[in-house]
Amino acid sequence: MKSQWLFIGLCICTAITSLAQNTTSYWQQHVDYKMEVDVNVKDYTYTGTQELEYTNNSPDTLNQVFYHLFFNAFQPGSDMDVRSRTIKDPDGRVGDRISKLSDKEIGFLKVETLKQNNKELDYKVVGTVLQVNLAQPLLPGEKTKFNMKFNGQVPVQIRRSGRNNAEGVALSMTQWYPKLAEYDFEGWHADPYIGREFQGVWGDFDVKITIDKDYILGGTGYLQNPQEIGYGYEKEGTKVKRKGKKLTWHFNAPQVHDFTWAADPEFVHDSRVAKDGTVLHFLYKDKPAYEKENNFTENWKNLQSKTEDLLLYFNEHIGEYPYDQYSVIQGGDGGMEYAMCTLITGNRSFGSLVGVTAHEMAHAWFQHILATNESKHEWMDEGFTTYISTLAQNEVLSEGKENPLSGAYRGYTYLANSGAEQPQSTHADRYHLNQAYGLAAYSKGAVFLGQLEYLIGKENVSKTLKQYYKEWKFKHPTPNDFKRVAEKVSGAQLDWYLTDWTQTTNTIDYSIENVEAKNQNTVVTLKRNGQMPMPIELRVTFTNGKTQDFYIPLQMMYWQKPNTGELGETWSWANPNYEMTLMLAKDQISKIEIDPSQKMADIKRDNNVFEN
Ligand SMILES: [Zn+2]
Repeated sequence: MKSQWLFIGLCICTAITSLAQNTTSYWQQHVDYKMEVDVNVKDYTYTGTQELEYTNNSPDTLNQVFYHLFFNAFQPGSDMDVRSRTIKDPDGRVGDRISKLSDKEIGFLKVETLKQNNKELDYKVVGTVLQVNLAQPLLPGEKTKFNMKFNGQVPVQIRRSGRNNAEGVALSMTQWYPKLAEYDFEGWHADPYIGREFQGVWGDFDVKITIDKDYILGGTGYLQNPQEIGYGYEKEGTKVKRKGKKLTWHFNAPQVHDFTWAADPEFVHDSRVAKDGTVLHFLYKDKPAYEKENNFTENWKNLQSKTEDLLLYFNEHIGEYPYDQYSVIQGGDGGMEYAMCTLITGNRSFGSLVGVTAHEMAHAWFQHILATNESKHEWMDEGFTTYISTLAQNEVLSEGKENPLSGAYRGYTYLANSGAEQPQSTHADRYHLNQAYGLAAYSKGAVFLGQLEYLIGKENVSKTLKQYYKEWKFKHPTPNDFKRVAEKVSGAQLDWYLTDWTQTTNTIDYSIENVEAKNQNTVVTLKRNGQMPMPIELRVTFTNGKTQDFYIPLQMMYWQKPNTGELGETWSWANPNYEMTLMLAKDQISKIEIDPSQKMADIKRDNNVFEN
C-alpha cells in the first residue's frame, strides 16, 4: 500500500458516542449468610452453623446446588496436591508439602447436617466441592433456606489459609466456610480448588466468631459489639471489660461475596480515618522476633498514611470505594485480596510493603466490587489490578518512573518469545506452567490496558475505567462488557483487539524494512511481521534535531487517535507491507522509529528503528 505524506495537519473527527448500556436481561443470584462458629485454638478445629438464604434470580429452575469446601484441598491426594506435584514449575510455597501433612495437620470442612426448608438433603462430597440435590426445586424468582452444621480443621499454612504462617500469625482464616458456588448466565462455576482464583455470589453476611479472649481479630465486616471486644475497636476513651474465657466477635458485612478473618494474640491494632471517611485498620504482630530485619514496626506505622493515599488514588482513578472500612492484616503467605481486607506477609522492605498493599487494595475494585469471573478471565482481575496499582505506587511513593508499566511489558515479551504462552482465555487452573499463567494474567493483562492507551489514548482509557466501574460494579462483567465501554467512550472499534489479544497468542512485530531516496523524497517501507495488526505511530527525527510524528490508522478500528501526528492512509490488516513517501531528502533524516512511546507490545523492538 502506498501513502503520500503531506506536512499539513488534518482534522480528525471523533465519533459522538452514547454511554447507554443494555443490561435489561442481566441477573445475578443472591445469598444471605448467618454463621456462628466456635474455634478451638489449641487443636485448630472449629464447629459452626450456617443459615443460608439463597435467592434464585435466574430464569432457570434449579434442582441442585454446589458449595465449595476449600479446606479439603489441604489433604494428601487432593487435586491441589496432585496438581502441585505434577506441574513442571510448582509454587515453592506448596511443592509436595500437602502430601506430607498428617491427620492433625490437614485442613478439612465436614458437613454434619444439611437441610433445605427443614428437609434433610442428599449430598455428596467431591473433593473441594459439595454437590447437593435439592428436596424442592428452586423456581425462578424464589428463595430457599439452607441450614447446615459443619466442622473444620485449619490446615498448617500451605497456601493463603492456615495456622501459624511463616511470620507466626496464628490464624489466617480465608476460604474457611462452606461457600455456595456461583450460578450465572453460563451455569454453575463449581471449580475444584487448586489454590488459584475464586468467585462468589454477593450477599449480606452476619458472622459470629467465638474464640479465646486473648485473640485479636481483623477481617471482612463491621464489628457489631466493639464495646464488648475492645482491642482498639471500642469508642475512643472508653474502657472495655472482657468477660469469660472466650469472646464472641459479631461481624456484619453487607453486599460482599466472601468473608475472611485472621487472628493472633499478639496483634497490634491501629486505625485511621481516611479523608473520604473510610476507616482503615492495620493489624500486625507486636514486635516479632524479626522486628529488626526490615524495621518492621516502623514500616507498618509508615504504611498507614500511604494506604490512605492509595485509597484516595483508586477512588479518583476508578471510582468511589463503597464500604466504610478496609483492613490491612498481617497473615497468609504473600498477598491476597479479600472482601474489605487483605492478608499480606509483613516482614518486607517499606517499598515492598506499600507495593503489595497497593496491589491487594486495588483488587477491592476489580476482584471484589466488579468481580469478573477470575477463573475464566484472570487477566481482567490480576491484569487490571497490576495496571492501576503500578500507576498508584509510582505516584504514592513518588517513584517518578516515566513508563511504570515497563516491567509488565518485559514480562509479556518474555512470555511471547518463550514458546510457553497460552491464550489469556485459558481457564486459570489449566495452564501448563504456573509461570505462563502468571505472565498471561498479570503482565499481559496489565499490558492490555497500557496498550489500550496506545490505541485510544490515555485519557480515553482513564474515562473507560471510570465508566466501566460505574456501569458494572456489583455485576460480574465479562471481557466484552469492558470492550463495549471502551468502544463507547472512544468511538473506536475494538473487537479485533479483544479477540486477538485475549483469545490467541498472536504477537505484534512491526519493522522498518527499507528507507530509500527517490528523487527529492524518501520512501519508507514498513512491514507487519506478527499476526496481530496495530495502528502505527512513527517518529521521524531530522538531522537538525527536530522531530515529526506520523499516525497510520488501522483500517478495522474505523477511527483515528487524535493529536498523534500527521495522518496517513489507513493500513488494512491483511496487507503485510506499507509504503509511505516522506517529502524530504533522505540525508535530512537521522532516525525513524516505530512506536517511540513503547506502549505497543512489539515483541521484537530492534527492527523498529532506522538510523541514518
Ligand atoms: Zn493480584
